[in-house]
Amino acid sequence: MSRVAYVNGRYLPLARAGVSILDRAFVFGDGVYEVCLVRDSALIDEARHLARLRSSLQALRIAAPVGEAALKRILREVVARNRVGDGLVYLQISRGAARRDHGFPPPGVAPGLVVTAKSLDPRLGEANAERGVAVITLPDERWAHPHIKSLQLLPNVLAKQAAREADAFEAWFFDSDDFVTEGSSTNAWIVAADGALVTRQADQAILRGVTRSRLIDIVAAESLRFEERPFTRDEAYGAREAFLSSATTIATPVVTIDARPIGDGRPGPITTALRRKFAAAAARS
Ligand code: PLP
Repeated sequence: MSRVAYVNGRYLPLARAGVSILDRAFVFGDGVYEVCLVRDSALIDEARHLARLRSSLQALRIAAPVGEAALKRILREVVARNRVGDGLVYLQISRGAARRDHGFPPPGVAPGLVVTAKSLDPRLGEANAERGVAVITLPDERWAHPHIKSLQLLPNVLAKQAAREADAFEAWFFDSDDFVTEGSSTNAWIVAADGALVTRQADQAILRGVTRSRLIDIVAAESLRFEERPFTRDEAYGAREAFLSSATTIATPVVTIDARPIGDGRPGPITTALRRKFAAAAARS
């Protein structure tokens, strides 16, 4: 079955789907995106993803290309047309296509909307969760607004590739004070040596992950000891557990950081319990 994309009002086979070469997403990376997990053809925590999309659009002063009800219909249609049971749906919005000029295009240029979906075998994620994954660390060289889910991901792309070349799953960024900010496409967590679960506060330095927020809800419901604060690489090396979170990885244990084993070098109990509880806690629509 050939995959189908939604592009600016039309559903097209992926092979024939395209945007103008003047689209500002193509020319400047001038746009935003979202990735939503799909389980049993349902969108997971869609409302939170759409809320974050609204704030990304607002931050970059891009108008919504369609209303929210229409967007929800399009997301479902793309999931259905691609027969995605388990996988993800991706959407990106650009500032539109216009004569190349760094400043915003003139009024009347419509923002662009592209939606795709793909299947992912959930057994791969489960295998990672059982084994745990390796992480390397790299200096955070991104711009000052990683809290905006913008299309400009070059440092993230280079970091993920560096991780792959080091046989690692993810790269965690650290700032000039050696505090871990987040991963190239995930949020970073540890269970500190004193047993407290720690993740960095959602300031401008990181993306406020939807999965992160859902896991914090679970942590609150379970009355686990939890601290939202920065942690250094050294603290991470000495942690009892570490894990990363995102829509597609949920909570995936990290068993080495820079080749140093975390805890006993195996997935930890708090990470495993949080991952298990996620499915029941997250909203399905
Ligand atoms: N941090 C970055 C830089 C990301 O790109 C992502 C997801 O793409 C996340 C964190 C996790 O966010 P979410 O849980 O909403 O997928």
